[in-house]
Amino acid sequence: MNQGWLVKIGTNAALLAIKWHLPIKGLLRSTIFDQFVGGETLDETIAISNKLKQFAIDVILDYGAEGKESEGAFDNAKNEFIRVINHAARQENIPLIGIKLTALARFALLEKLNLLVTFGQDQVSIDISSTSPNEQQEWARVVQRVVAICELAAQKNVGILIDAEESWIQNTIDALTMQVMQQYNSQKAVVFNTIQLYRHDRLEFLKRSYAIALKNRFLLGAKIVRGAYMEKERNRAALLQEVSPIQPNKPASDRDFNAAIAYSIQHIDRISLIIASHNEYSAQLAVQLMEEANLPYNHPHIQFSQLYGMSDNITFNLAKLGCHASKYLPYGPIDDVIPYLMRRAQENSSVAGQTSRELFLIEQEIKRRGI
Ligand SMILES: Cc1cc2nc3c(=O)[nH]c(=O)nc-3n(C[C@H](O)[C@H](O)[C@H](O)COP(=O)(O)OP(=O)(O)OC[C@H]3O[C@@H](n4cnc5c(N)ncnc54)[C@H](O)[C@@H]3O)c2cc1C
Repeated sequence: MNQGWLVKIGTNAALLAIKWHLPIKGLLRSTIFDQFVGGETLDETIAISNKLKQFAIDVILDYGAEGKESEGAFDNAKNEFIRVINHAARQENIPLIGIKLTALARFALLEKLNLLVTFGQDQVSIDISSTSPNEQQEWARVVQRVVAICELAAQKNVGILIDAEESWIQNTIDALTMQVMQQYNSQKAVVFNTIQLYRHDRLEFLKRSYAIALKNRFLLGAKIVRGAYMEKERNRAALLQEVSPIQPNKPASDRDFNAAIAYSIQHIDRISLIIASHNEYSAQLAVQLMEEANLPYNHPHIQFSQLYGMSDNITFNLAKLGCHASKYLPYGPIDDVIPYLMRRAQENSSVAGQTSRELFLIEQEIKRRGI
């Protein structure tokens, strides 16, 4: 994974092989799939969840259906999310599940509505009056699916993390997420939005979301990430000759991410925060800010999460310290999780990246133990 050229050739070859129906699933399964995915079915994830439980590590289950575009597929995804909530409610260490709006709605519809979202001082709204009756009905079905998921989650005391995706559908995701947060977050954070700090407008958006939550008397659930679609975002902006929504450089993303941690900790009585990152400095900073604010490590509004297969050094040390630490554990049929695997492969391919760092740490530890 830390050989960039191999990842580039490998991911392109894998995509072609899948397109041509070549038998490469076995190879994917025993390499990149096993590293980053919990299994093809919910049952296959149980052994991993139980193992993590022994180390006081929570699990965030994530059914990884991406890129499906039919009403039947959206209903199936909703039913699977319902199954995951029921499963999570029966386990001690699965307090949250992740969902993607693109698993429940047609991408083009989300993109169309994106232009119809208004961010006011008091609320975020979508004015769908200019869309066709069919589109209005289609959107009503999407809302129904999301509400059904959140309703059950609230009843079963399981939290819902709504993933952030491409900026050209994100307004729609934000608007719907704010709507369900208002509906279900009055007592505790059931629903969490995801805020991507690699966008230069998102620190402001976090503050605006907080103000809206305060005004409408609900808790803001905020999962903060740097963001996973950087190249796609930049390429699209260049193609359309628009200003890129992405920060000019990595230090700018880091600055806003760390500022988002500090802001959320300052307002921790009304923000339920999930720091979703593999960045060691950000994790250390969060712990330091908690200590300075005299917050207990197991504060109910502060959680840390890393993706399964990455940064175990961070997750295990945070859990050992007594923090709420979790692994984001995706599962699903190999075909459906390919886009997720490709993002992980690309993210891990730089020499300065996380995989190289982890390999280095493991090598050091093996030497220290004299194995
Ligand atoms: C539990 C969990 C859930 C996640 N959920 C989502 C989600 O819902 N939506 C989503 O989009 N992502 C999600 N991610 C992925 C996340 O956005 C990042 O891609 C990934 O975690 C790497 O960022 P980092 O903070 O871990 O580490 P770092 O290695 O410190 O940061 C890498 C990140 O910095 C940013 N970056 C790198 N180079 C530049 C540059 N030149 N200019 C500007 N910015 C740059 C990019 O965002 C890159 O991914 C999730 C990650 C985790 C751990």
